Amino acid sequence: MSEPKILDNFIGGARAPAVGRPTLDVTSPRDGRLLARVPMSTREEVDQAVAAAKRAQPAWARTPTKERATRLFAFRALLLAHLDELGESCATESGKTFAEGRAEVLKGVEVVEFALSLQNLDHGAAMQVSRGVTCEQRREPLGVVAGIVPFNFPAMVPMWMFPIAIAVGNAFVMKPSEKVPLTLCRIAELFAEAGLPAGIFSLVHGGAEVAVALTEHPDVAAVGFVGSTPVARRIYELGTQRDKRVLALGGAKNHLIAVPDADPSITVQGVVDSFTGCAGQRCMAASVLVAVGPIDDLVARVVERARAIELGQGMGAIIDEASRARIVEAIGAATAEGAELLLDGRGARPADRALAGGTWLGPTILDRVRPEAAIRHHEVFGPVLAIVRVPTLRDALALQADSQYGNACSVFTTSGAVAEYVAEHAAAGMIGVNIGVPVPREPFSFGGTKASKFGQGDITGESGVELWSNLKKITRKWEAQPDATWMG
Ligand code: NAD
Repeated sequence: MSEPKILDNFIGGARAPAVGRPTLDVTSPRDGRLLARVPMSTREEVDQAVAAAKRAQPAWARTPTKERATRLFAFRALLLAHLDELGESCATESGKTFAEGRAEVLKGVEVVEFALSLQNLDHGAAMQVSRGVTCEQRREPLGVVAGIVPFNFPAMVPMWMFPIAIAVGNAFVMKPSEKVPLTLCRIAELFAEAGLPAGIFSLVHGGAEVAVALTEHPDVAAVGFVGSTPVARRIYELGTQRDKRVLALGGAKNHLIAVPDADPSITVQGVVDSFTGCAGQRCMAASVLVAVGPIDDLVARVVERARAIELGQGMGAIIDEASRARIVEAIGAATAEGAELLLDGRGARPADRALAGGTWLGPTILDRVRPEAAIRHHEVFGPVLAIVRVPTLRDALALQADSQYGNACSVFTTSGAVAEYVAEHAAAGMIGVNIGVPVPREPFSFGGTKASKFGQGDITGESGVELWSNLKKITRKWEAQPDATWMG
């Protein structure tokens, strides 16, 4: 068998063999196959990428917005032409299903579409503010900006950031997740093929050292981070202490509320798809089902649907053995705290023998979880649903609000009044009504509250534009006004 390749960084528009050592193995969670080796790059390599970005950025900033958009149009076409390849790549390295891999690339394409539409949406503003005096507002890029991303969406999460940042005239240096670095390598090549000038989009592979070096770098003006809450908090503090703009998205503990009038089909599908999609490894996954009142039938149907999921077909794998062990431990701790195990995925394996070397765990459902149990508070990041029974909607909302996280909350109901009540009172950034994964679609922005986000604004949509740019205001007068006041 041939030796797996060591991945290159992508600096100054070309592959740059990394000097950083050691390397880490990148294996497929689906079957344990060794895919590549990823280098742990050094601070020197971060310096090289930032320097190349700094050299390229002024010309890119001076390139008219409409011309910048043409490269994004070409990039979009290439992403779509390579949709299956990229979807497969996401699935192979992150463990999710091919359908999920394809869907995440398409969601990334949506952000590209938003970014290229800025040429028409964001044309500045000018107004005569007093006689003979005009005020103009125009948007300016920040310079060199950086992104640090997690394992669970190898394509989509990076594409929350760099298309908008680059569309407004920045140069972007990205650190892929060391667990899933392959898809981004291909995406960087496609962007270069689309005519993006060298140095405007770079990749530096590595782990915490590269993340910290980028965040501390004096020539990096802003940092976007997506990952777990402790690291989000660290990156936010490191960056803001150095007067950088930082938006750091963290973990989640999403509560789904089902009330007795909920439509059974829509609820069962919504809840199960939410906690099993991406094998529960997404920050919008259902983690707690708050069952209001007597809804035993619904719970039984949730269990039935989850039990029928075929591993490897309907649900993907867990990223690595360490994550699997952590999830198994959380399930054990929950039962020790009194939860009733309605469905136990700990021994589940795919029927397909070719997947035997993968990291598998089946859907798991715990009922009658006590509100104070650890599993209701800590992020599990796996296909585990904790059901808490409460008598009233008010109790359900009190439970939801008591979470340290604030990413998503959904309600399943046929009552408009109940839905509005939850939309108003739930303590989360993204609310779903009869939707288990309430991810806003472009141009609406993505972002939570509380320990799910550190920093101002959101990561996509108009908030993304604000994150990666400044507004410059120019006030002009060309003729003296005899009756001018201080405002004139
Ligand atoms: P992680 O925090 O372990 O890693 C994220 C990134 O930070 C990676 O690139 C990693 O190399 C880097 N990193 C890790 N430790 C670091 C350290 N000590 N200092 C500096 N950088 C460090 O997260 P993960 O396991 O890759 O992803 C799962 C987490 O991401 C979950 O908590 C999930 O909820 C969260 N997530 C959140 C969102 C959101 O939108 N809020 C979206 C996706 C994932």
